[in-house]
Amino acid sequence: MSAEGKLNELTAHELSGLLGTGQVSAREVLAAVYGRIDEIESEMHAYVLLTREVAEQQATEIDERRARKEKMPPLAGVPLALKDIYCTKGIETTCCSKILKGFVPPYDADVVERCRRNGLVFVGKTNMDEFAMGSSTENSAFGVTRNPWNLDRVPGGSSGGSAAAVASSEAVVAMGTDTGGSIRQPASFCGVVGLKPTYGRVSRYGVIAFASSLDQVGPIAKDVRDCALMMNVLAGHDARDSTSIDAPVPDYTQALVGDLRGLRIGLVKEFMQYQGRSVDEDVSLAINGALARFGELGAECEEVSLPHLNYSIPVYYIIAPAEASSNLARYDGVQYGHRTPGADADIVEMYSRTRDEGFGAEVKRRIMLGTYALSAGYYDAYYLKASQVRTLIRRDFDQAFERFDVLVGATSPTVAFRLGEKTDDPLAMYLSDVCTIPVNMGGLPGMSIPCGFSADGMPIGLQLVGKPLAEEVLLRAAYAFEQSTDCHQRRARPVSEADGRRSAVARAGHDSA
Ligand code: GLN
Repeated sequence: MSAEGKLNELTAHELSGLLGTGQVSAREVLAAVYGRIDEIESEMHAYVLLTREVAEQQATEIDERRARKEKMPPLAGVPLALKDIYCTKGIETTCCSKILKGFVPPYDADVVERCRRNGLVFVGKTNMDEFAMGSSTENSAFGVTRNPWNLDRVPGGSSGGSAAAVASSEAVVAMGTDTGGSIRQPASFCGVVGLKPTYGRVSRYGVIAFASSLDQVGPIAKDVRDCALMMNVLAGHDARDSTSIDAPVPDYTQALVGDLRGLRIGLVKEFMQYQGRSVDEDVSLAINGALARFGELGAECEEVSLPHLNYSIPVYYIIAPAEASSNLARYDGVQYGHRTPGADADIVEMYSRTRDEGFGAEVKRRIMLGTYALSAGYYDAYYLKASQVRTLIRRDFDQAFERFDVLVGATSPTVAFRLGEKTDDPLAMYLSDVCTIPVNMGGLPGMSIPCGFSADGMPIGLQLVGKPLAEEVLLRAAYAFEQSTDCHQRRARPVSEADGRRSAVARAGHDSA
């Protein structure tokens, strides 16, 4: 390894090889990651907490076990960033809300346990929109994260810290969650790969709940193979999550064959046009280019319309806030985190002052929307109606999957927007997820992979959607596409817009390298 400082830029599978043969140690890899963090984290703010001591202990243990010739799992020694929504035993977990400040969970989430067992090394907890409500990470109570491709832009959200950490090589792989797009949209904005598995494929035990009929957890990685390796770690039944599916777990890396003959791919019209508008021209060009590439790779491609997808945003903004208002009722100053001091004389006052101080504006907006939608007399008009339309959305998908194996389109209608650009306009912000939300409505697996760059140098994501439990089909299609491009090999070089010329030069230099 010529440049040891670049270990953090490698993929998990590359590192796995080097670690397995003893060419590098887990401690060296970790040092490279923290070296990168020391260099750029003050500008990026991808993390809300760095867990250096835990990580060093874990890395040392991996190295010692390897030295004893123990057989290690493939990802042992690979540095991982965890969204701050995962309960981590003994490590503060806030969901980036003031109301959970100081909360130290007494147990690990199922996926955190799995990652520990598989020897992944915990670099830190990443920034996110408060309670995962948002599309830009600007709703975090602890400050914004910047997009590593352009520091004046958002990284997407709500798993923006996780996507930015991977894209800037401040982590090798990361965990996100996705209720309406929070893995796929930030992956798209940061030029990395994100996979939202089928609802129930991965346990949500120990994951702070937002909207329980939609929430799913999944990996964010530098390429498709890393995503498959992470799925091997994460997928599986867990009796502690009643929605967990008890189905056999394949070796997801077996799907990475690079051949698409016979695969039927549908380009979803509603992923390219919404509310009478088209996705950005650069995005549309890149997606159509990807479709042509799929054709060259042997897939049969056709356009398909799923008309009820047009109702996804209004349906989501009834269902998700309704479920959130119920899930968030537990934060009242009694059991977790923040309690307003000096308000103990009157319990109702204590609740209301604690919640007023503890929750940010977007979370309060969702609680109010949800409480209203569920209130007596309105339930039938809103929640019930939304549930019925959700069924129509699911049926559209079922019908489309009679003809197609994979549905594709844009992950988000635009590339990463500027910090502050949409903070005063919640509806504009909500539209950032117009292509991803329908997939959560259907409980389907969805993925975003880099498929090009806009004229101003920002990454563009291609979304792939599969039938329930068809993660392997998605991985197969994504891998074949990825192998035919170099998008996933480009690495972000964080610079701000004012320094745009330098940014372009850095990229050009990298391309020709
Ligand atoms: N951006 C969407 C929202 O604000 C989705 C968030 C998510 O997937 N967690 O609700």
